[in-house]
Amino acid sequence: MSINPLRHLLSTCFVVCALVCSAAAATNATEATAASRTLPPMLLLTNASRAAIAAWCATQPASNINAALQALTPPQRRQLVSCALDITVTPAETQRVTEAALLVTDSPDLGFYLELYATTQIRMHDAPSGAYAAGDHISLSSGMLGQKDITVLRNTITHELFHIFNHQQHAAGGISALNEGTAIWIFKCAYSDLPRAEYDLGLAEPTFGTINFYRDLGIKGYPKHIDMGIPTKDITAKGREVYETILMARDPSRLPVFDAQAMQTIYTNYFAGLKRDQAFDQWLREFRCAHVRMLRERDAVPPQKQGAPPA
Ligand SMILES: [Zn+2]
Repeated sequence: MSINPLRHLLSTCFVVCALVCSAAAATNATEATAASRTLPPMLLLTNASRAAIAAWCATQPASNINAALQALTPPQRRQLVSCALDITVTPAETQRVTEAALLVTDSPDLGFYLELYATTQIRMHDAPSGAYAAGDHISLSSGMLGQKDITVLRNTITHELFHIFNHQQHAAGGISALNEGTAIWIFKCAYSDLPRAEYDLGLAEPTFGTINFYRDLGIKGYPKHIDMGIPTKDITAKGREVYETILMARDPSRLPVFDAQAMQTIYTNYFAGLKRDQAFDQWLREFRCAHVRMLRERDAVPPQKQGAPPA
């Protein structure tokens, strides 16, 4: 029986991603400018520097980087991404990681990962499974790299680098529900080849599931109760852009991510009572019922009362 790659990723990532954002060394992306969507010609040279790529990306909103990459031919995009990447895995795995990284930036929504490639090193470590992100690098386990299905590697790179994005853009950070939830939801909403049933549960399942995972299953050495991780006013323009135009715009659960009170009320009213320490399929079934009830009841009340406790 094959392993559900999403479930596998979820279960392995919790152990290691709790370390995310523990180190500094992140790049402070500047506020978006009204720059052109066209890449400077110097970035299309075969020897374009990572620093130059990172510097250009830092001046651009995510939508401009997305548009610029989509305007390239596949060989041009491959060359640009290859210049941006800093991969320190075995020579045999370097090509595979590069191919997976290209699958990420081939997505019209994820061209902005170019900036993450140009500022983050991709390493590997010896372990049967899992991956992690920490400060200025992500690390993929040898077991993860050994998996035949390249979509697992694509999803893992997408996931771990989004933890770096959250840190760089002062979005959901630390050991929090939204740091993990957004890093899972970003690949579920960006790739159409993943299970529709999990897509339909939106940002809610990985976010609230993270809280219940820590509470019910726990991770040795980590707290049983974690923060929601609502982004503060310090979130950058690029961070807010990606949250609003991708994560929230696609979210079937329509979570009010920036409203701490409403998020807590929704969690308390519909998902806090669900047990995470049971078979994943059963968890999904119960979550789906609660999710349907949440949407039905939220649709039945005026917008100004959204998130309020039931009468
Ligand atoms: Zn994670």
